[in-house]
Amino acid sequence: MTEKINPNCAKCPIGACDPKIKVEEKPSLNTAPGYCPMKNMPEIIERAVSDYDEPGVKEFARLASIQEFECYEHTPEGRRTKNPRILELIQFAEKCGYKKLGLAFCAGLTSEARTLTGLLENRSFEVVSVRCKVGAIPKERIGIKPQEKIAGVENYESMCNPIAQAELLNEAKVDLAVMLGLCVGHDTLFFKYCRVPVTVLAVKDRVTGHNPLAALYLADSYYSRLKTKKINK
Ligand code: SF4
Repeated sequence: MTEKINPNCAKCPIGACDPKIKVEEKPSLNTAPGYCPMKNMPEIIERAVSDYDEPGVKEFARLASIQEFECYEHTPEGRRTKNPRILELIQFAEKCGYKKLGLAFCAGLTSEARTLTGLLENRSFEVVSVRCKVGAIPKERIGIKPQEKIAGVENYESMCNPIAQAELLNEAKVDLAVMLGLCVGHDTLFFKYCRVPVTVLAVKDRVTGHNPLAALYLADSYYSRLKTKKINK
């Protein structure tokens, strides 16, 4: 059996999946690279596309696409963006007819969670919010050693509890859960245990004001240490 070549879209120089052609023309794979999944794994793409035939999925995808469209406006000067992600989130939730939103937030973003809750309530959503430290379970419960606690060896420190955050939002039967600033790994567990639809408002980045791409944009200059092969401590 020949081994499948894994997709490597991030290195693709042409983007044949989004050709700049007229509506009556057909996309061509002639110039797509050897690692293009449209060439190597068409059956997986076909199977995925058939999932949109499920009416609920199709409608969700349609509304998401309309939301994407509405984040732009066409002006005499050309196309430009208009909605920050918070507005995009609110508009999408309204489009879907959602009434009850869940908010899983990091203790470090408590103030942001409060502001966001006010904004959402102002738009008539019911908001169920759960902080990451919920449960007040000491970090020792998951095998953390005293010297591995941020608060110091002599202090009590609650573990982040993304599983409980997910389960509490599942229990509240929120229409949509919103992740706000959970750490790497904690967010992974939250997604794993969430049984309601989830979206992300912001990811945690302690250094860049929760904008991880800032470091990427500076990878050729001030953050060039990101490019070294050994792990930066
Ligand atoms: S799907 Fe194919 S054409 Fe599109 S970015 Fe990936 S490799 Fe390139």
